Amino acid sequence: MDSKLVLYNTLTRRKETFEPLVAGRVGMYVCGPTVYGDPHLGHARPAVTFDLLFRYLKASGYKVRYVRNVTDVGHLEHDADEGEDKIAKKARLEQLEPMEVAHYYTERYHRAMDALNVETPSIEPYASGHIIEQIELIRRILDDGFAYVSNGSVYFDVEKYNGKYRYGRLSGRNLEDIVANTRELDGQSDKRHSYDFALWKKASPEHIMRWPSPWSEGFPGWHMECSAMSMRYLGERFDIHGGGMDLMFPHHECEIAQSTAALGHDSARYWVHNNMITINGQKMGKSLGNFITLGELFAGTHELLAQAYSPMTIRFFVLQAHYRSTLDFSNEALQAAEKGLDRLMKGIEALEKLRPAAASTVNPAELEERCRAAMDDDLNSPMVISALFDWVRTINQIADGRETISEADLDALKRTVHRYAFDILGLRDEKAAGAAAGRDYVTPLVEMLLSMRQDLGASIRLWSIF
Ligand SMILES: [Zn+2]
Repeated sequence: MDSKLVLYNTLTRRKETFEPLVAGRVGMYVCGPTVYGDPHLGHARPAVTFDLLFRYLKASGYKVRYVRNVTDVGHLEHDADEGEDKIAKKARLEQLEPMEVAHYYTERYHRAMDALNVETPSIEPYASGHIIEQIELIRRILDDGFAYVSNGSVYFDVEKYNGKYRYGRLSGRNLEDIVANTRELDGQSDKRHSYDFALWKKASPEHIMRWPSPWSEGFPGWHMECSAMSMRYLGERFDIHGGGMDLMFPHHECEIAQSTAALGHDSARYWVHNNMITINGQKMGKSLGNFITLGELFAGTHELLAQAYSPMTIRFFVLQAHYRSTLDFSNEALQAAEKGLDRLMKGIEALEKLRPAAASTVNPAELEERCRAAMDDDLNSPMVISALFDWVRTINQIADGRETISEADLDALKRTVHRYAFDILGLRDEKAAGAAAGRDYVTPLVEMLLSMRQDLGASIRLWSIF
């Protein structure tokens, strides 16, 4: 493996050279969507970030098993232990089966991901399809003494865990801070402490999503699925766990506590978190009126949008910022991204038309070295883009006759540009894909991708690796 990839590990708060547990192979788990609403801007960033990592690891020669879950049960409102299940609530409001809700929004999510040219993970497990694994893991945590049963529900004993391992390592919080920032229990809860969290919840009579368990008929707590499914598909130790920074606490902290309580050791080695997006400097939220779905962005139908933005404009815009920086969406910034992407695609078109000369006055190895160094440095996609732009200038100079390039160098340059722009950054020439007509960039691309997917055998050969 000639990669010298360095990743920022949230757990250790420093950049570390990436060393997989098994040479040549990578196991990666990323928290996926809770499927009760349309995919929005907040989904685009983690999807593109971990797609970039997935693509780069593969391009570096690793066999990658990328697991991204679908949360279709257990995610309660306000990410808390009380309140209604997000999917069950939507099902009640729309008079649908919870599975209809989950299926419908999972499909919508997949279509949006296809439009963004986000590759399908190796495995996309559903929480509701892994109830047995979750019950088994809860049993192990109970056996190890880090959980208690209360009125049919099972709660994680944070204080007991904190006595042996430290709770809050990932987010840098300690139990005292957490205690100070949580409200007192009102006496209605089955929990001993407000900071304890549910591993299993007894279903109330009106709760429609329920399964039998040794403790009650109920459903798993939200954090449980990721511990259980990462263990199921990647083993008790695996390489990378990713997600948005908003999931760091409590979700990822609870995952670490659950896995450590059951196993006696950490499961994931590198914790990678993408930063959040803002819209015109504000946090995105339904109550703020700036909640923009990806469909609205692609069609330009939200009142905050001056125009439609193609999926590749969104992807390019996300990649123009380093994944650990904040990213602010505005019409000006998106229009600039649209222009930039257009310039890059025109440069690639010009590259295809270049005529070789007897000798080179340029050195395309420089581009390969710059791009690789940038990607190895914690996935610095903005530096890759800036190197590609420098070479668009060079390509234009070659076209004008101010520089020359040999046949061998021209081939090498094409290979490098394609590798980084298309294979690794995952950009697509939307106009060349036959989608130039009107503003409807999405439908033809999605149709094309969906029809490609029908060759399931080929997809499985491509993505199954272990
Ligand atoms: Zn998760």
